[in-house]
Amino acid sequence: MKDSNFLKEMNARSVWHPMAHPADSHANPPTIVTGASGVRIKDVDGHEVVDGVGGLWNVNLGFSCQPIKDAIAAQLDALPYYSIFRGTTNDKVIQLSEELRTFFEPDGLTRAFYTSGGSDSVETALRLARQYHKIRGDTGRVKFLSLKKGYHGTHMGGASVNGNANFRTQYEPLLPGCYHIPAPYTYRNPFNETDPQRLAQLCLQALEDEIAFQGAGTIAAMIMEPILGAGGVIPPHPSFMPGVRDICTRNGILLIADEVITAFGRTGSWSGSRHWGVQPDFMCTAKAITNGYFPFGAVMIAEQVAETFEQDASGKAAIGHGYTYSGHPVGAAAALACLAETQRLNVPENATARGEQLHQGLLALQAKHDAIGDVRGGHGLMCAMELVSDRETKSPIDKKTIATVQEVAYHNGAMVRVSGPNIILSPPLVLTREDALVILDALDAGLAAIT
Ligand code: PLP
Repeated sequence: MKDSNFLKEMNARSVWHPMAHPADSHANPPTIVTGASGVRIKDVDGHEVVDGVGGLWNVNLGFSCQPIKDAIAAQLDALPYYSIFRGTTNDKVIQLSEELRTFFEPDGLTRAFYTSGGSDSVETALRLARQYHKIRGDTGRVKFLSLKKGYHGTHMGGASVNGNANFRTQYEPLLPGCYHIPAPYTYRNPFNETDPQRLAQLCLQALEDEIAFQGAGTIAAMIMEPILGAGGVIPPHPSFMPGVRDICTRNGILLIADEVITAFGRTGSWSGSRHWGVQPDFMCTAKAITNGYFPFGAVMIAEQVAETFEQDASGKAAIGHGYTYSGHPVGAAAALACLAETQRLNVPENATARGEQLHQGLLALQAKHDAIGDVRGGHGLMCAMELVSDRETKSPIDKKTIATVQEVAYHNGAMVRVSGPNIILSPPLVLTREDALVILDALDAGLAAIT
């Protein structure tokens, strides 16, 4: 292995990083991760830290999940690839689909369409939602609704429903006909409402108003994360998602739950929709479906939607959409092993316990550090703290200062993620109490460094 400075130079010379300025790697070389085990990652300079990010919200079972590794190795020997485009399928994808059908039955979702990741899953759901209405002869339903601050990946459709300008502005014009509703974000919202329940009602009213303004008959679907993730971990009041479901149902609008982060235990329930007692029409999954060990995703489809497709005799339901890697046998084998381990370990239970520990720990840090404007969590193992330069005015912290918190936390034992003014925690769901304390102590040190 070359020395780490040399690797950093080569990285800056030849790698463009997602979500970064291409020139940034020169001034701020990224951490070069060379190994990982359990919930810890190791870098090229010899540091070993607790991964407070969980890879990228996906390594729910940690980095040493042997059954998944074994399943991938065995599948590479048995059948490393074959397509499931019309005419062929594979045994692993059949087995997985039956498992997913059972797993998501309480969510009312009984069919799977496979993808290579989260952005693909979003694109798939948006396209199938439009097709559903066309099959039914409701051809005017083409628009999409979503939440401000929502993140739905980076394909053109996903970017169009994204609710954050950073992922949109340089790529416009995006898909026409996408409209955004205020998010139930108690710390900052256009209504200046600080009560979560009243705010949820105001956001639901805004949704009703937008539907009335656009005309219900023009809208194909509403897409939302059950808990906004990349936008800063924003859990809504429990009345919000059921309220959205009700409004969508009354207006003939499909509800797409983007559960790329929340499916498979992250919220302390097996899905984010189940967490709020909602059955969506489509559910986008990816990430933790293979524990991050293989790029893979699945869009789960509600029984009623599936029947509309399956009972079509006109030919309109033929699916003109799919990916070379849809139903990849190695991904399917990884997902099967992952699903079995996820259930065997009953990860939602630990997600709830460790999530509560981290949430309370962050609240304790807020009492100590003025830079913490808001702390969010309380629904499984996803928490955030929003940093401000002034608590009174809520002015967001600058990029350099929040980067210092992250860097000092890293040197004190924990990798954490910065997203805008937020520090986000989404560690593996197998985190121990001691690991969580390491993350909290590291953040304490990071925050102390900026005061
Ligand atoms: N949807 C949500 C809610 C996500 O959080 C993400 C990624 O973080 C995506 C979609 C896109 O997934 P991917 O990066 O795998 O394309």
